[in-house]
Amino acid sequence: MSIFEQRESNLRAYSRVYPTVFDKAINARQIDENGREFIDFFAGAGVLNFGHNNEKMTKAVIEYIQSNGVTHSLDMSTTAKRSFMETFLEVVLKPRGMPHVMQFVGPTGTNAVEAAMKLARRVTGRQNIIAFNHAFHGMTLGSLAATANEYFRGASGVPLSHVSHYPFGCEQLCQGCELGCGMDSLDALRAQLEDGSSGLEKPAAFMLEVIQAEGGVNIADKHWLKEVEKLAKDVGALFIVDEIQVGMGRTGSFFSFDDYDINPDVICMAKGLGGLGTPLAMNLVKPELDQHLSPGEHTGTFRGQSISFVAGTEALKYFQDDVLMKEVARKTELMNGMLAELGTIDGVQIRGKGMIMGIDVGDGAIAKKIVAGCFEGGVLLGACGTGGRVIKLIPPLTIDDADLTEGMNTIINVTLEALGVL
Ligand code: PLP
Repeated sequence: MSIFEQRESNLRAYSRVYPTVFDKAINARQIDENGREFIDFFAGAGVLNFGHNNEKMTKAVIEYIQSNGVTHSLDMSTTAKRSFMETFLEVVLKPRGMPHVMQFVGPTGTNAVEAAMKLARRVTGRQNIIAFNHAFHGMTLGSLAATANEYFRGASGVPLSHVSHYPFGCEQLCQGCELGCGMDSLDALRAQLEDGSSGLEKPAAFMLEVIQAEGGVNIADKHWLKEVEKLAKDVGALFIVDEIQVGMGRTGSFFSFDDYDINPDVICMAKGLGGLGTPLAMNLVKPELDQHLSPGEHTGTFRGQSISFVAGTEALKYFQDDVLMKEVARKTELMNGMLAELGTIDGVQIRGKGMIMGIDVGDGAIAKKIVAGCFEGGVLLGACGTGGRVIKLIPPLTIDDADLTEGMNTIINVTLEALGVL
């Protein structure tokens, strides 16, 4: 028995899906200790947008450490944090006319979500947060209350309260719509919230992912999303967008909502923010809302992590011009073109925006077979959505064409076989 089987907690999950021991990784390839190479269509669930061991980032980090740069300093001001913040301001906030401040939180996505929920409750003096069916916002108690999946919720051990879930408004008929699709329920919710005698408390916030990644690659309908924002404003609630998995260029522009004409009060970021795969999380908060917080009220030992700031600054430089985003657009077309035939099969639906795509095969057992078959065929990917019925394709944005095509061919062939079409 390996040390993992002997002594790693039963909680271990991905090591069961990918039964090998990885040793090295470069761009879109992970290599196991026997030298077998795998093409990575999982990319740390949205962490490794810029590939494994991105050369620009490893160089910057090595130089920083060798020059005795500060690696840990709680949330003190450092040169590494200054470079990151200045670059973020120039590359992301200023071009969009966004006045938001950067709130550094503990380094995981769930911590950003916790801080966002706390802020909404503080600002409004209300308790309830409105989240959506199929949402995934994290695993700590506050964020878990907003996460919809019953398996994860079941582990909480205490009631998950002060969050209600409503149907998500998808841009195309998808699994979310089986629950009754967004617009009708949003209209009904508005009517209730506007009726002083409905008995429904006004919420502190509406919180959502523009693309529900873990929830099954469900993409928000533009009109629905704007109406959610409007309802939030009309009832004095905050509008929180969780960009943790689909931000940082994943959809072909920095934010997944860049083409949605919305103006969130709080934007939660993590995962790819640290560039290299080391953790970093941050909320972008409108300054008038930030005034409601007092120093250190939401603290944490690892609020801002220098190695992540150094690598994250390099990641932000990819957005100083449109070279990478043009590449993402081109690769998106390539992926869509290759997946088109699969989408014509009865019971299969392809959904996606930019380089996050889902193959909804409608059945968790088939999806599980596909994930295992892909592993056998040398491709790493994961399943998501209700019962794990959606194959999620989320390769590094920097994947080269040879790996992208080889990986896609494997995924398509394994899927056809699992569906009994080959
Ligand atoms: N929010 C979204 C949209 C996510 O996809 C995730 C993780 O997958 C989280 C929050 C939680 O992030 P973390 O696992 O870093 O706590």
